[in-house]
Amino acid sequence: MNHDLVIIGAGPGGYIAAIRAAQLGLNVACIEKERMLGGTCLRVGCIPSKALLESSELYHEAVHTFKDRGINVGSLQLDLEKMLSQKDRTVKTMGGGIDSLFKKNKITRYSGHATITAPGKVIVDDGKEQTELEAKHILIATGSEPATLPGIELDGDKVGTSTEALSYEQVPKHLVVIGGGVIGLELGAVWNRLGAKVTVLEYLDRILPTTDTEIAKEAQKIFEKQGIEFQLGCRVTGVKANKKTCDVEIADSKSIRCDRVLVAVGRRPNTDNLGLENVGIEVDKRGFIPVNAHFETSVKGIYAIGDVIGGAMLAHKAEDEGVTFAEYLVTGYGHINYDTIPSVAYTNPEIAAVGKTEDQLKEAGIEYRKGSFPFLANGRARAMGQTEGRVKMLADAQTDRVLGVHILGPRAGDLIAECAVAMEFGASSEDIARCCHAHPTLAEAIKEAALAVDKRALNF
Ligand code: FAD
Ligand code: NAD
Repeated sequence: MNHDLVIIGAGPGGYIAAIRAAQLGLNVACIEKERMLGGTCLRVGCIPSKALLESSELYHEAVHTFKDRGINVGSLQLDLEKMLSQKDRTVKTMGGGIDSLFKKNKITRYSGHATITAPGKVIVDDGKEQTELEAKHILIATGSEPATLPGIELDGDKVGTSTEALSYEQVPKHLVVIGGGVIGLELGAVWNRLGAKVTVLEYLDRILPTTDTEIAKEAQKIFEKQGIEFQLGCRVTGVKANKKTCDVEIADSKSIRCDRVLVAVGRRPNTDNLGLENVGIEVDKRGFIPVNAHFETSVKGIYAIGDVIGGAMLAHKAEDEGVTFAEYLVTGYGHINYDTIPSVAYTNPEIAAVGKTEDQLKEAGIEYRKGSFPFLANGRARAMGQTEGRVKMLADAQTDRVLGVHILGPRAGDLIAECAVAMEFGASSEDIARCCHAHPTLAEAIKEAALAVDKRALNF
């Protein structure tokens, strides 16, 4: 079979690249080894985790905060099976949506494991037969999979990764999470809200290593108030699984007995049996595929995007790379700005950021002015009863150009979009401060933080 473009992997990087390339007139094929399209993000990542975060938050609010607002719901019961099936339904429906998008855009789908055998040649193995495809261009979008630690054997049951933690059939009594990154905090929050004791063990002396330090510290205090325990500076040396419990062993400290362990110490690029050696593509020290500014690997005509090339392991980063790749391939022009890619942790409150942290600016010797505005002083946050956190804006001391925005607070993940757009257009804090923001909205906190850069916040 001949195609202009063969894409390996139908995650957010691969399937979006396929759609954009097809829109631009290419004859596109996409190979996916799993039954469902959508990749990690749809199957066992972004979407199922957010479904559970929403449901667990609703449950938690119903139990703890409804009555404070005059809503008496009587005695409440958790139906975990139903909660999990709502999550599964959401995933399935969205998977079907991508199938339809492939049909609409006339993208040929192949099911099976892809191996590159030579430049322009890929074999698809579906377990029964092998099909050879020929392509002018090959795009690798094979994503990533959970990493683990020496001394820990994942048993897919008591000791597992995010994949298992999305489907525990019972609320654990005590869940130990190894790794205080985004996965640890999001999935730790889910099970904490549903009643589990949650202990997060983090190797560093802080959680969320890439988040602005001040924001991460404030967030940790809030999560501690919610009942999550943290042990920082903690080196896990192994996990022993017993019949019904596990013992998590920690260097220089007592081991912890629990009934579930979630290993969330990062993800590794997925290049197993991909045939890179057949074409001479070498991966870097951490296993990522090196590419140039146009996503081309060391071999002409073979490209890579998404988690497998490293950088922020985020779905929207993979998508934007997919679009940029396709547009550059067809038109000779593509645009991606890595300085304005937002990131969001969907905890409560949410943590969202775009641009540089204070630490990064200090390290780079860039002088900046800082404006901070607490949600405590925002009318809408007060009305919602969600007053924890703040918006922090960092602007260049000379030009006033916005260099970074960090939000800890309600709906931070939605609020950050305004800041990413502003930064993409090179806005100054003065520009944002002069834009009218509707009242009463959470977004007013962004305007106030922009005013605060110039020490003239109005409501604080
Ligand atoms: P993937 O989504 O990993 O897709 C790669 C696809 O390639 C897979 O379907 C795989 O089966 C297929 N494949 C691999 N090798 C082959 C082969 N040889 N042949 C055929 N097919 C192959 N990101 C966010 O931005 N927001 C979030 O809220 C978020 N939440 C997350 C929650 C969890 C629990 C996890 C684990 C991740 C989360 N992420 C989130 C990260 C996000 O899922 C990834 O960054 C994103 O999926 C990367 O997209 P990708 O297309 O590069 O790879
Ligand atoms: P992560 O890199 O965010 O965090 C891993 C944490 O584990 C780090 O804090 C690290 O210091 C710690 N760690 C590493 N080794 C350790 C050890 N031996 N003992 C204790 N702690 C140790 O990785 P993650 O949370 O596994 O997430 C993986 C990727 O998935 C991330 O890159 C993230 O961007 C993506 N993701 C994104 C979202 C989102 O956007 N909302 C949600 C989930 C996952």
